[in-house]
Amino acid sequence: MEYSERIKRIPPYLFAEIDRAMEKKKAQGVDVISLGIGDPDIPTPGNVVERLCKAAHDPRNHRYPSYAGMKSFREAAAGWYKRRFNVSLDPENEVLTLIGSKEGIAHIPLAFVDPGDVVLFTDPGYPVYRVGTILAGGVPVEVPLLEENGFLPDYSAIRKEDAKKAKLLYINYPNNPTAAVADKDFFRETVEYAKENDIVICHDAPYSEMSFEGYKAPSFLEAHGAKDVGVEFHSLSKTYNMTGWRIGFVAGNPEVLAGLGKVKENVDSGAFQAVQEAGTEALSGPQDCIQKNMRIFQERRDLMVDGLNDLGYDVKKPKATFYLWFRIPKKYKSSLKFSSDLLDKTGVVMTPGVGFGKYGEGYVRCALTQSKERLMEVLARMKKID
Ligand SMILES: *Cc1c(COP(=O)(O)O)cnc(C)c1O
Repeated sequence: MEYSERIKRIPPYLFAEIDRAMEKKKAQGVDVISLGIGDPDIPTPGNVVERLCKAAHDPRNHRYPSYAGMKSFREAAAGWYKRRFNVSLDPENEVLTLIGSKEGIAHIPLAFVDPGDVVLFTDPGYPVYRVGTILAGGVPVEVPLLEENGFLPDYSAIRKEDAKKAKLLYINYPNNPTAAVADKDFFRETVEYAKENDIVICHDAPYSEMSFEGYKAPSFLEAHGAKDVGVEFHSLSKTYNMTGWRIGFVAGNPEVLAGLGKVKENVDSGAFQAVQEAGTEALSGPQDCIQKNMRIFQERRDLMVDGLNDLGYDVKKPKATFYLWFRIPKKYKSSLKFSSDLLDKTGVVMTPGVGFGKYGEGYVRCALTQSKERLMEVLARMKKID
């Protein structure tokens, strides 16, 4: 049997490799502590779970859902946007339900990219931007995120011929893996760049609510003219601890959404309606669960940042996300070597920066998805190695 060229072009899924190395350690009896994957360890809020249970009993939810998603869910998303960002969206054609935002991020190139077309995406970054591009036959072109630029892209450094061939540009703030944030000026600059080069902007914003000490991340759609050039992907996964539920949405330009909708109509049949009802509850119900979560993540952040700095690392306190992104010790030539050494010597998993792209080399990502006690154990184990 022969796999397709497009499958062969997909780089190995880094997290799967780390999982394998981790399982091997576990099989050897090691008490592995994973700070490798961005999956909240805190349960989904009770009101959301309750709503699912009720909705699951309703036979109307046992049938095929509508393609664009339930009107009530799309209205809840639009209402949330209005309250949170003061951005008005027409739930009819400016919001589309997704089976998790990853699904939409991976599918959108199929609507806009022909073989040979370029897709620009920030590197280091979420691996799906590249893979979605490859699956559509497009040419992925990295836009480097450099520390000296605050991990924001420098649009003036993108080659003219790439910009000319580019159909899409993926950006992501608050950023995974660097934890960098972007302000409204950056989004205005992004709109300008999109207009000049006729590129559709895909802003991936699953961490918009995961911020600390009063910082509020802006929406790309707040920028003047943003709706003319792009869309914003949202996920309930991180905000409401719902990674396993597979529910998200995308908002913005109706033509762009219609393109993605056409792809989806032909490859999936929408998200389970009971899950959409639960998502409606999450978006429209009490929001205090977010602050409660973020207090937990802040305690962990402070503990880990201080602890790692005491151990000689140079880690800054991020304003948002639940990641720490920092340089590996100078004696290591590669982030992969650092991560595998760390796993070997301490049983702790952190993600090598290179797994997010070549501009992530030299860094490592630590997800704060373990309890304070476990994080203290991580620091104690790391103290014992040099
Ligand atoms: C977690 C994550 C997503 C995907 O979330 P879903 O669970 O598919 O909604 C998308 N982008 C980034 C950058 C993420 O970290």
